[in-house]
Amino acid sequence: MVKEQISLIVPCYNEEEVLPYFYQAFCEIAEKLKEYALEVIFVNDGSKDRTLEIVKGFATEDSRVKYISFSRNFGKEAAIYAGFEHASGDYIAMLDADLQDPPELLPEMIHAIKEEGYDSAATRRVTRKGEPPVRSFFARRFYGLMNRISTTEIMDGARDYRLMTRQFMEAILDMKEYNRFSKGIFGWVGFQTKWIEFENVERRAGETKWSFWKLLLYSIEGIIGFSTAPLALASVLGIFFCCVAFIFLVVILVKTLCFGDPVAGWPSMTCIILMLGGIQLFCMGILGMYLSKTYLETKKRPIYICKETNVDAKGNQTNE
Ligand code: UDP
Ligand code: MG
Repeated sequence: MVKEQISLIVPCYNEEEVLPYFYQAFCEIAEKLKEYALEVIFVNDGSKDRTLEIVKGFATEDSRVKYISFSRNFGKEAAIYAGFEHASGDYIAMLDADLQDPPELLPEMIHAIKEEGYDSAATRRVTRKGEPPVRSFFARRFYGLMNRISTTEIMDGARDYRLMTRQFMEAILDMKEYNRFSKGIFGWVGFQTKWIEFENVERRAGETKWSFWKLLLYSIEGIIGFSTAPLALASVLGIFFCCVAFIFLVVILVKTLCFGDPVAGWPSMTCIILMLGGIQLFCMGILGMYLSKTYLETKKRPIYICKETNVDAKGNQTNE
């Protein structure tokens, strides 16, 4: 009987310290899931350390190990996309290299799809143990805001760790946008997802690749990619200030015509002009952000550029 195949997609950016642990964990889980054929696809996202060398080392010893190496750093989202394009499994899982996504959850995820009939099994952490409080605070606010202004549901604390059917993965591959916000993309495609909760696990070795600034830009990407509410904000503010201005006008007219009061005060005028100027610039900024994303999308640039790989067109490993 031909075994069903599971592909694990692992984005790696400067992960030399943690890869040996990951590979060990992979071998252990492959042993546990003997009834399936496992393959692991490491996507080297332009690492500057020995990541590629280490991955190649695994590949020469182990025919289950495949890799794709980018010409530069394209980001985790691009790495996941590349992994999907090269995956040959019936089920596809994506997980981080740092073991923050415990591979031990895989049997439970497989059960959810095969026995309970879900299309995908995703994970969310119930605690944010070991994370800086400022980061947790902003993350919570972001999810709150996002779910209020976007029609696509985005789960608080959701990790990118997920197992899915091939059909689900192909739906994701059909979303060829250049600005990729996978938390939104996974919600957008629909299907039935089972959420499995687990306690936050700290990174096994090495350091997080996400600075506060990078996370902020990523959340703006999410908002712009999955909500048009900020665009409507400009109109709402415009209407509000028109009403205020009209009331103000009536008050001044009545005061001048009926009571002969001279119109006083350039300081108040300056404040109003400054405030309105500020609001206009802010709204133009929002417009600009959408426009710049649209501009990038229209260029239709590739999501990633592969420099070398050991996966052939049929998804088999080719070791030179
Ligand atoms: N990663 C990547 N490209 C990047 C940044 C990160 O492929 O530009 C990978 C990284 O190697 C890891 C995963 O994405 O496997 C998650 O990164 P990290 O652990 O730094 O994020 P955190 O868990 O702190 O959110
Ligand atoms: Mg991590």
